[in-house]
Amino acid sequence: MLAAVGGRTAVVTGASTGIGRAIAVALGGLGWRVGLGARRLDRLEESARDVKAAGGDPYLHELDVRSAASIDEFLDATVAALGTVEVLVNNAGMSTPGPFHRIDDDALRCEVETNLLGPMLVTRRVVEQLLQRDAPGDLVFISSDATRHARPRMVAYAATKAGLELMAHSLALELEGTGIRSTIVRVGPTISEFGFQWPIEEVEELMRYWPRFGLQRHPGYLEPAAIAQAVVTAVTAPPGVHIDTIEVQPEAPVGDTGPAQPLPRPPE
Ligand code: NDP
Repeated sequence: MLAAVGGRTAVVTGASTGIGRAIAVALGGLGWRVGLGARRLDRLEESARDVKAAGGDPYLHELDVRSAASIDEFLDATVAALGTVEVLVNNAGMSTPGPFHRIDDDALRCEVETNLLGPMLVTRRVVEQLLQRDAPGDLVFISSDATRHARPRMVAYAATKAGLELMAHSLALELEGTGIRSTIVRVGPTISEFGFQWPIEEVEELMRYWPRFGLQRHPGYLEPAAIAQAVVTAVTAPPGVHIDTIEVQPEAPVGDTGPAQPLPRPPE
């Protein structure tokens, strides 16, 4: 198990499932206080139970990163319960796949607000509080390998994650000398609920389409815990060390070089 490095207060957005839940649990495993935010409270309660079982001190509150009022309520309640946020993991994210010209305006707006504007609104509030207290901190941005390998049929998603990465890099420079570090954790194909809402025919079509561009070449997927481990590495780096970017990719299963398959979904 991971070694405890002192009791910090962390916040994870999108902590109700998948990668966010795994990150929250890993931070709980350090013995930290962990604020969990997302829209589905029942799923957040499951995550909070896992954080507690791992040795952490969880606090959950509803959060919609598309709403400034919801972000204020979430942060106010979390700070009151756990203290100033010292570690922020901007994890909440979504995508609507398909040919760009067919994605409607509302879906595009949702993607930009969830994946880019939301992290901006959350991060600026956390940074403001840290600077007011002259306190060190860690900002983590969960990005996608779509920023490095352009991903057709996820055009807006790739653009939002590229924007997120440049935000993280620019902020790292702006915050130099403050003790607040900014890290990108860039994620490859990972088993989660990402895409569970997509029509299965669309997913099957994407699995045939993407390999033409060198994407989804093999059937390897990561477990969310692998991403959580990368986040822990970044936020437990000793003072004086800044981990700028970590990209985590699944290894091709040894001996199985067949194409990627759609992930199994839960029964209806
Ligand atoms: P999941 O769909 O399992 O999790 C997404 C999380 O985001 C959920 O907890 C969801 O909670 C939350 N969320 C979505 N919209 C909002 C919102 N408006 N306000 C607050 N929370 C929100 O997918 P992953 O765990 O895979 O995704 C986590 C991150 O990893 C995302 O940023 C994604 O882009 C990134 N990523 C994932 C990859 C993969 O292969 N899985 C690959 C590359 C990057 P709720 O619905 O309860 O609000």
